[in-house]
Amino acid sequence: MEIDLDKIYHNARTLVSRLGERGISVTGVTKAALGSPEIANTWLRAGVRNLGDSRIENIATMRRANVAASMELIRSPMLSQLDLVVANAHLSYNTEIEVVRGLSSAASKANHTHGIILMVELGDLREGIMPEHLESAVRETLLLPNLVFQGIGSNLACRSGVSPDSRNMAALSALADSIEANLGVSVPTVSGGNSANLEWVLSGAETGRINHLRLGAALLLGREPLHRQVIKELHTDAITLKAEVIESKRKPTQPWGEIAQSAFGEVSPTYDKGSITQTIFAIGRQDVDFAGLDPPSGITILAASNDHLVVDSSNYPGGLAVGSEVPFQLNYSALLRSMTSPFVTKTMYSQLEHS
Ligand SMILES: *Cc1c(COP(=O)(O)O)cnc(C)c1O
Repeated sequence: MEIDLDKIYHNARTLVSRLGERGISVTGVTKAALGSPEIANTWLRAGVRNLGDSRIENIATMRRANVAASMELIRSPMLSQLDLVVANAHLSYNTEIEVVRGLSSAASKANHTHGIILMVELGDLREGIMPEHLESAVRETLLLPNLVFQGIGSNLACRSGVSPDSRNMAALSALADSIEANLGVSVPTVSGGNSANLEWVLSGAETGRINHLRLGAALLLGREPLHRQVIKELHTDAITLKAEVIESKRKPTQPWGEIAQSAFGEVSPTYDKGSITQTIFAIGRQDVDFAGLDPPSGITILAASNDHLVVDSSNYPGGLAVGSEVPFQLNYSALLRSMTSPFVTKTMYSQLEHS
């Protein structure tokens, strides 16, 4: 995997400044980068305010590498990890009052203060407190020692594909207003969502109280995730995956013998093109979500098993010799899997001094 830190920097800098004009600050979400300290530091130099990850282990990795930023756990903490959470994260996003109580105890024990953002369910049906129960959760959070209530947030487009729009974002703004009016506290952070919110924000919509987004995918891939459109002036090739050819031969497209399920419980789709140049790359399901790989033109992906990616390379200019390397573009799912595979070497490079 080749990671161009200059392009990563450019993407972050461009988005941070465009959102800054709208009064929106950015937490850079490192989960698809396995908490990479190099990427985290590049983002911080580009103006990303805080860092967030869904796994406390990734946050601990960045802390050990002395990445200097406020760290946010963006998935609801596990009750079994609360001590680890208060030791490594400055703030967490929460949906269960039982967990918030536990964080208060753990923070008191460790003599820390821990920030709390309460997540609200706005229709995507993943995490979130139902809106009618938010106020009582805020009220109880405010009473607990060693916690600082930092605000509210929402997450859309991750489970059901519900798009952030003026209606659900206005609902979040209205909740911030009503908490302030009814409880007499300020709601400093109103965290609208993830990369899926960009299309709405960058359209110039009225953003109301939304003053924060948590961004990972868009910073790394340069696209908004709802329609996979390129975000203006961003690089989409900051990260590429290079795979090496281990076999290349003329073969028929039709298997022969009695056909049952494959090792992965699937019946192979038919692909009847007579005879093709079939090439195998030394990469498989263990290393990448092959459905999210975008090969160069002239290559069609046919199948993948654990360790083999099988393609039709009949139309690849010049052909593919054993040992040659081919770059693939990745979608989010492919990126996530490759970043977490110990078999994929990550090479980061940079020509510039980022100041
Ligand atoms: C993953 C995640 C994000 C970041 O999402 P991207 O699509 O990578 O921008 C933000 N918030 C939460 C709660 C997440 O789980």
